[in-house]
Amino acid sequence: MVAIGGGSAVDTAKATAHYSGRKVVIIPTVAATDAPCTGLSVIYNDDGSFDKYLFYPENPAAVMVDTQVIANAPVRFLVAGMGDALGTYFEGRASIRTESPSLEGTGITRAGMALAELCYETLRDYSSQAIAACENHVVTPALENIVEACVYLSGVGADNVNCAADHSFYNGLTSLGGHSAPHGCCVAFGTLVQLVLEGVSQEEFEDVQSYCLEVGLPTTLAELGVSGEDDIRKIAEAACVPGETIHNLAGDVTPDELFAVIVATDALDRARAAE
Ligand SMILES: [Zn+2]
Repeated sequence: MVAIGGGSAVDTAKATAHYSGRKVVIIPTVAATDAPCTGLSVIYNDDGSFDKYLFYPENPAAVMVDTQVIANAPVRFLVAGMGDALGTYFEGRASIRTESPSLEGTGITRAGMALAELCYETLRDYSSQAIAACENHVVTPALENIVEACVYLSGVGADNVNCAADHSFYNGLTSLGGHSAPHGCCVAFGTLVQLVLEGVSQEEFEDVQSYCLEVGLPTTLAELGVSGEDDIRKIAEAACVPGETIHNLAGDVTPDELFAVIVATDALDRARAAE
C-alpha cells in the first residue's frame, strides 16, 4: 500500500495496511506532522475529538520525501510541522525524567533522546532559512534539514521517547469540536504550556517563545480559536483523562492545575506579543 498525502491520509493508509496485512510506503506531500515515520495512527471520533492512538507492531516500510514537493506546498504546512517537531524534545525530556516507557511501549533509549535533541537543534538552526526557501519554492540545504527534522527526527524520535503535555493539550483541544487549528500549531502552544507546568526558568520559557514568534507559530489561545473560560476548562479536563500522555510528567497533573497553567501561558504570550 502506498500513501500519498498529508497526516490524515498517511494515518488512514497505515491503519488500512495494518488491517489488510500489507506493508505501507509513505510519500508525504506536506511536512506538517511527524505522522509519516511513526508506528501509530491517531483515531478521532466522528465529531473530530481525539479517540485514541492505534499502535502497530511495525513502522512504515519506507518513507520517501521529495523535498521539491514540500517546497511547492504552502509554507503554513511546513511551519505546522515545525510546531509538531518542537514538542518532541521537551516531551521526551519530561518522559525520561519520570522513567516513563517510550510511546511504543519499550524503555526510552539514549538513542531516542539523541534524535529528539537533534530534532530541536535542527529546528533552532535552520527554520528561518527553510521558511525563506519554501516561500520561494526552492530546495536548499536548510529546507532539507528541516524536512528531516519534521518528518524523520520528530517521528522516530517521538516513537522512541514519549509524548507528554504538549500532545495532551492538542488532544484536549479537539474535544471542543469543529476546531480548525493545525495539529502542529496546537502542539507548539502545548509546548509552552508544558514548560509553565514544569516550572522552567523564565529564560528557557522566553527562549522557546521567541522561536515560536520567529517562525510564526501561535503563542496565544486566540490564534488557536480558543476563547473563554469554559473552553479552557473543557480542554484541561479532556487533556487529563486517564491514559493521556500528560501523566508522563512528574507529579499528578490535575485539570485544575492545567487550567491555571493554560491561562497563565496565554497571559505571558499576550504580554510578549504586545511588546
Ligand atoms: Zn504530533
